[in-house]
Amino acid sequence: MYSSGIILDIARFASDATVNTMRRNAALLTILLMLVVVSLTGCRPALSFPSAASEPYPYGSQTPRTTPAFKTSATVPAGVDANLSVPILMYHEVAPHTPGMDALKLSLLVTPDQFAQQMQYLKDNNFTTITLDDWMAARVGQATLPRNPVILTFDDGRLGVYRNAFPVLKRNGQKAILFLISNEVGRVAKGYLDWSMAREMQNTGLITFGSHTVHHAVLPPLTTQRALMELSYSKMVIQRNTGRRCDYFCYPHGKYDARVAKLVGVAGYRAATSEIPGWSRVTDNAFELRRVRIDGRDSMAVFRTKLGPGG
Ligand SMILES: [Zn+2]
Repeated sequence: MYSSGIILDIARFASDATVNTMRRNAALLTILLMLVVVSLTGCRPALSFPSAASEPYPYGSQTPRTTPAFKTSATVPAGVDANLSVPILMYHEVAPHTPGMDALKLSLLVTPDQFAQQMQYLKDNNFTTITLDDWMAARVGQATLPRNPVILTFDDGRLGVYRNAFPVLKRNGQKAILFLISNEVGRVAKGYLDWSMAREMQNTGLITFGSHTVHHAVLPPLTTQRALMELSYSKMVIQRNTGRRCDYFCYPHGKYDARVAKLVGVAGYRAATSEIPGWSRVTDNAFELRRVRIDGRDSMAVFRTKLGPGG
């Protein structure tokens, strides 16, 4: 049922005048996508559970894009404050630091104590966690944000987020979005959460899920067809397993260009998060939302600074 939704999404976006090339290729892409979806659904390899539970954290080693691919909008909808902005915090894994960890891993892993302290700080200082839906509505004047809004995002769908971050979020009533690598969900021994954990989190009404591709694929070098498969198939799998729409996307390694960003729209997503640093601004393109990186080596003083104006 979702594959037909994806095809409708493609048809909808293909009619957009800004994607004339897409329109020319829409029929071909639709047929190709159907074939890809059918072949992947039909022969998905059995999940493997390697015994090594302590594999190195595999993501985040590449340099992300740090400058926008699109010009900022000169105007905002009537009634919307042109200076409106929200900090979108970027987390990866929440797990203890151990001796001998390299700098990259220390940076990507926020410890459970650190995370609990940071969430307590948000609570004590009257920050309200909002969703990307809230932010998208506010950007077009269809919602008013609470004072001190903040958006929590977690890339990769790691097990530590379920084990160590989710209990804190649940206790505090704080909302977050997790960007899942669809092919890794269920590989618990490799350090990823599974669908039952995802549904348990979703059932609290606090946690939603976005896509981070099928294979954590770096998208810019891929052909259009291959990139669309990563975008559409992961969306379909997440929707099928959660029963909810998967409207948001996160670029693996923060890597994208204007072509890739347009394909994210073609695949039916409403917006995408990038690793361009700073608070997300109302004038920014929806397919390159800025984020504030939370580093596992941040002190509370640094965390507080990141929540100051502009990040
Ligand atoms: Zn990632």
